[in-house]
Amino acid sequence: MSQKQEQTRETLRAEAEALVANLLSPTAQPAEALLHELIVHKIELEMQNEELRRIHTAMEESRDRYVDLYEFAPVSYITINRAGLISEINLTGTVLLGADRAKLINHRFSQLVAPQDQDRWHRLFLNLMQHANGEKQAFELKMSHADGALFDAHLDCLYRETWDMAPIVRVTLTDISKIKLTEKELRIAAIAFESQEGMFITDTNNVILRVNRAFTKITGYSAEESVGQTPRLFESGRHDAAFYKAMRDSVKTTGSWHGEVWNRRKNGEIYPEWQIITAVPEFEGIEFHCVTTLTDITEQKLASEQIDQLAFYDPLTNLPNRRLLKDRLHQALNYSARNKQYGALFFIDLDNFKILNDTLGHNMGDLLLQHVAQRLLNSLREGDTAARLGGDEFIVMLESLGEHAQDAAIHAEITGKKILAALTYPYQLESLEFQCTASVGATLFFDHLLSHDDLLKHVDIAMYQAKHAGRNALCFFDQAMQTTLTERAALEMDLRRALEQNQFQLYYQLQNTHDGQAVGAEALIRWQHPEHGLILPLDFIPLAEETGLIVPIGLWVLETACAQLKTWADQALTRHLQLAVNVSARQFYQPDFVQQVVAVVGKNAIGPGRLKLELTESVLVSNIDDTITKMDELRKIGVHFSMDDFGTGYSSLSYLTQLPLVQLKIDKSFVQHISRAPSDAVIVQTIIAMTKTLGIEVIAEGVETEVQRAFLEQHGCPLCQGYLFSKPIPLAAFELLLGDRSGQGAAPTLMMLKDL
Ligand code: C2E
Ligand code: MG
Ligand code: MG
Repeated sequence: MSQKQEQTRETLRAEAEALVANLLSPTAQPAEALLHELIVHKIELEMQNEELRRIHTAMEESRDRYVDLYEFAPVSYITINRAGLISEINLTGTVLLGADRAKLINHRFSQLVAPQDQDRWHRLFLNLMQHANGEKQAFELKMSHADGALFDAHLDCLYRETWDMAPIVRVTLTDISKIKLTEKELRIAAIAFESQEGMFITDTNNVILRVNRAFTKITGYSAEESVGQTPRLFESGRHDAAFYKAMRDSVKTTGSWHGEVWNRRKNGEIYPEWQIITAVPEFEGIEFHCVTTLTDITEQKLASEQIDQLAFYDPLTNLPNRRLLKDRLHQALNYSARNKQYGALFFIDLDNFKILNDTLGHNMGDLLLQHVAQRLLNSLREGDTAARLGGDEFIVMLESLGEHAQDAAIHAEITGKKILAALTYPYQLESLEFQCTASVGATLFFDHLLSHDDLLKHVDIAMYQAKHAGRNALCFFDQAMQTTLTERAALEMDLRRALEQNQFQLYYQLQNTHDGQAVGAEALIRWQHPEHGLILPLDFIPLAEETGLIVPIGLWVLETACAQLKTWADQALTRHLQLAVNVSARQFYQPDFVQQVVAVVGKNAIGPGRLKLELTESVLVSNIDDTITKMDELRKIGVHFSMDDFGTGYSSLSYLTQLPLVQLKIDKSFVQHISRAPSDAVIVQTIIAMTKTLGIEVIAEGVETEVQRAFLEQHGCPLCQGYLFSKPIPLAAFELLLGDRSGQGAAPTLMMLKDL
């Protein structure tokens, strides 16, 4: 009963007692008055009763409301007694914990705490009990439902005492699992947002709402500078309106867009970035917006450009390589087919490039190739292609030369000649001035009449034609040439096998005095081909030189000749003979040529002066200093040098004095015309006179007639080589010839042998 109810009751009782006392008192009022008073009191009493009933109902209602509020509160209320047992729990609590109230009451609260948090709970509970200061304490615990499922709980705990001073803890418990999850997701989102990739978020109006740190790093714009702006802030001007429209349309229709965008950083630098735009549609009141991620791909682009450059361009000259050329040629053929236009292809090969490379080194060679590439580009129109196939081989492609073959051919010829002219000007290679010519092969193309492989073959053939035409020339493709070159290719294959299959042989041609004394011989190579029979050097030496096979072949000649000298050294008949060996320029310029000769001479223990190396004037074309050094080194070990084919070259006169030559060999072309061409007779005389001045020996080759021999003898050339005495012959025949000559010096035998 409430205090107020108690008061009312007390007042009524007092009033009733006063009434009774009044009735019993001697001064009591008359009965009527008393009755009236009683009725008044009765009414008052009823009114008071009514009030009491009303208060009672209100209290009942209040209690129900409290119970409802308590039971159905959005949080769980739990009361825990000092023993740690649950003494009260509201309905929300039972629902949250998933157990009936009956099961929970007097149940140990700690058993509802997840094992990993139980220790902590015990400490917290103890602390609550010990520091009963009436302050609310809040903490989070991992708790378990009755079925064992764990959830995150937030606890507000308050220490209290019951009316009988028993300590209790009132707990409000909230399940915060969802909040935690959201928090976690937000944290992850925040971490993700601060990733290495630049990100910005825009609203419906494309206004930037947020940017991350990576964004600032990439663009140079801080959050303050970019939020509130639109992405137009970064536009580089490299894309047109259509580009951005396509981007917006894609976002609108598919919800995303990705691609490469050229943007401008705050510092003005234009750079490529990879953008992914993802639209986040309107959802539960959050309006539509876009998340854009951007990656700076400057480095990747650079790397991929470098890869492309390596894959498709020649690193030395930066011209397209063979691969890219094929691609361009393919496109050109397509274009030609579509537009009915002729095009032209040129194959350009430098003359004597290999010699430059061998004599002055690869650096100089590379420098020359770079100059050549530049000159080619300078002589072309925009849209024409110049490519490098490798080595000193270049290709030039012209397109759109008109609908008529004749016009196209005229145009191609003009360009071809322009290229030739451009390449002949002297080149400044560091301190050296170098002159070089080129051989150019050309062909026209139209539609897909020929494949690009065939076209390349044709210009290659045409280029060989130009070489055969004496170099520094332009030739258009010719079918007959193709046949020759096919044969040549077959010959090259055979030549590669000839050495290992021992198909080479040395022939010896006598060198003698006018009175028939043998002084030596020239070793001349022959190729005994299994199908074509005996092949003369002029039919395979040039090929061997071009392919580089001359190097091993030359070494074989040198070894065979020296071995022969060694054998001859043991016989009285041959001991005094000198053997002349021809050395080609390519062979001479091998870096280890001197060592090779020294080794071979040493191995065979050849006496000084027995070996004579014949060089031609072509050896002198490039590096005279290197030539002299090499010759000097070999002279030191006693090797002799003879200048072969003298008079046919054009450069040597001024060098002659510098070279450690022992002999000059008058070329057979002069000797053969001695009696018919007075000029040749004069040349021969001059050469003889010159050798006298220089103090070196002279020999005439190609002496075929007695008239020639007599002329030479008369003009002071003491030595001869020629069919008049003997043709080049195999070793056995040569030795036979020597034997015959030493016996009787018999001319008939010689005449007989020269027909061999
Ligand atoms: P070469 O060094 O000038 O050799 C002289 C050439 O003239 C030889 O031709 C020889 O047979 C020829 N000959 C000699 N006397 C007469 C004659 O009275 N009348 C005519 N018409 N010709 C005569 P062969 O043997 O065909 O050699 C041609 C060239 O091949 C040589 O010219 C030389 O440059 C080169 N050669 C030959 N053997 C070798 C070699 O082992 N190595 C190198 N690198 N080149 C070689
Ligand atoms: Mg010779
Ligand atoms: Mg010669």
